[in-house]
Amino acid sequence: MTSSDEQSETNNETINETSYEFQAEVARLLELMVHSVYSEREVFLRELISNSADALDKLRYKALTDETMMPDDLKLAITLVADKETKTLTIIDNGIGMSKSELVENLGTIARSGTKAFIDQIKQGDDSNKASPDLIGQFGVGFYAAFMVADRVDVISRRAGSDESFQWTSDGKGMFDITALEQEQAFGTSITLHLKDDAVEFLEESEIQRIVHTYSDHISFPIFLKGEEKAPTDNDEKSETEDAQQQLNAANALWTRSKNDITPEQYKEFYHHTASAFDDPALTIHYTAEGRQLYTSLLFVPSMPPFDLYDAQRSAHIKLFVKRIFITDDAEILPPYLRFVRGIVDSEDIPLNLSREMLQNNPLLASIRKAVTNKVLSELTKLADNEAEKYLQVWEHFGAVMKEGLYEDVERRDTLYKLTRFKSTLNELDTRVESDKSDDTGWRSLDDYIKDMPEGQTAIYYLAGDNMDQLKASPQLEGYMARGLEVLLLADPVDSFWVSTAAGFEGKPFTSITQGSAALDDLPVQEGDETEKSDDSDSDALLDRMKTALVEDVADVQKSSRLVASPACLIASAQAPDRQLEKMLAQQKGGSIPSVKPILEINASHAMVKALNSAIIDNKEKRFSDLAFLLLDEARILEGNAPKDPAKFTERLNRLLLEG
Ligand code: ADP
Repeated sequence: MTSSDEQSETNNETINETSYEFQAEVARLLELMVHSVYSEREVFLRELISNSADALDKLRYKALTDETMMPDDLKLAITLVADKETKTLTIIDNGIGMSKSELVENLGTIARSGTKAFIDQIKQGDDSNKASPDLIGQFGVGFYAAFMVADRVDVISRRAGSDESFQWTSDGKGMFDITALEQEQAFGTSITLHLKDDAVEFLEESEIQRIVHTYSDHISFPIFLKGEEKAPTDNDEKSETEDAQQQLNAANALWTRSKNDITPEQYKEFYHHTASAFDDPALTIHYTAEGRQLYTSLLFVPSMPPFDLYDAQRSAHIKLFVKRIFITDDAEILPPYLRFVRGIVDSEDIPLNLSREMLQNNPLLASIRKAVTNKVLSELTKLADNEAEKYLQVWEHFGAVMKEGLYEDVERRDTLYKLTRFKSTLNELDTRVESDKSDDTGWRSLDDYIKDMPEGQTAIYYLAGDNMDQLKASPQLEGYMARGLEVLLLADPVDSFWVSTAAGFEGKPFTSITQGSAALDDLPVQEGDETEKSDDSDSDALLDRMKTALVEDVADVQKSSRLVASPACLIASAQAPDRQLEKMLAQQKGGSIPSVKPILEINASHAMVKALNSAIIDNKEKRFSDLAFLLLDEARILEGNAPKDPAKFTERLNRLLLEG
């Protein structure tokens, strides 16, 4: 029990019955469910059927290695029993079942990430009694959704392989009871909902048919409906009950059907079920490979980022099936940089009885991994080429993750380069951009960049930093923009990593504009830019004086061709790592300030720099050092850092202001 501290177990007088308190977050969630006026509360059935299907999958997998788990003639199925007299709806499965401790853990705490996220959202809203209805639909709340329609829920469960059965009962108001059952039960789980008066519509046959058809048609186990009958007990004669039941779904695995026979809604429901997601898939990939290996794959690219997108522990969530039997969801079929993709792969060739360890190293699985990864990338490429707008939505959500592939998957780097999109100075900053670009999304591909390069440009320029606004305000951009040179603005943490190992694209190296010499002097400044020609005469003396004054903080002071409007900026020397990469590495080690001294570049034509020159001429030592340090601190601030010594910074600033 993960949250035993939050659950108090009190032995009642009654033999075998134990009362438990729900984990605080569950109690909160249940309170919302009980008061829910959510118009689409019919989704409770989808959630319960989905749990049953998972339990059946788990049993079938267990039975592969332990035949005693599943008698030969056992037909795995989900049965719904509607009883108008008692106003109960019961969902029965002969799946894996739950032990006593599993009942406590699974139905007393919160396991699923979607439900956690739902609760976090509600917490933020801090409106404890009103669950926003669309949020319930969006996140799905699993088993607890039952309390939207029921004022009491009884769960009877027997774990396959055990002969003990338990009943879990709750009215959803803070506590639940667990009772050991004397009478032997069939293994599996039956969940009986005592429907609220305003929810008896869910006993109508037509209503149940409609709901199952809408949400659960893709379930690969048969779903039966029995009307006006009691749930079968072990003593029931099978033949009597079987006649009264009708099958509500097609019960063949969705991916085995032909594409033409599957509607977009069915794909969507399957995606929701298999990925525990609630958005529309942005891209659905369904194909059967028939080369050296026979397998079918049904994959989805979500349109909303999953909650655990940046959770490094969780790699891609692709479920592996072998001949329709669920095997595992941690076969790592896709590389971590495609971890947002959901879905299934069903192989005809992998042996069924492999242990998990043997499976991981199985060469058939290795070749499926390779093929499925290539397929996802080629489908994304197709999307980018044919439906650019849709692709950009995918990129907005998952681009930062896909860029991890640029250094993790060197083999596919060229394919990945083609898929990358960037913000750049062209659309973000350049006011000269023609108005026909106004509906542009601002994203640029590397192909766009290369195509629009002016003659003489030999590198792909980039500026990496913590956030877009700060990047746009960087003085280092000025000289490049004045020359019509586009600069890619890289604001994702991952950017500094891939770009520092990148070999280049189409023969053009990636060059940081805050590292090494700007090499801009040979490129002409565009018309309309009021870059003054600087006056060189005193600059050598000035640079020497500044170097001496700032020797503790900078490696060198140089004249800049990068700057137009700003007086100064910091760069890294050509040999040192780029400033942003260095900062990130320092942060990872717990520090914040890069340890390598930067180079301070100054704009000789700026009034501040001219003022420095005057201070030298007038022999004003104090004024000179105040101005020099201020220039340095300003450059730091523009990089998103604090002045080195805030007290001295304000002191100097005040002194200069008062003098002025
Ligand atoms: P989720 O299904 O996303 O894990 P739920 O709240 O719906 O979240 O269910 C919690 C857990 O309870 C499940 O993960 C599963 O272990 C268990 N469970 C629920 N229904 C059943 C069932 N019919 N048979 C076996 N286990 C179940």
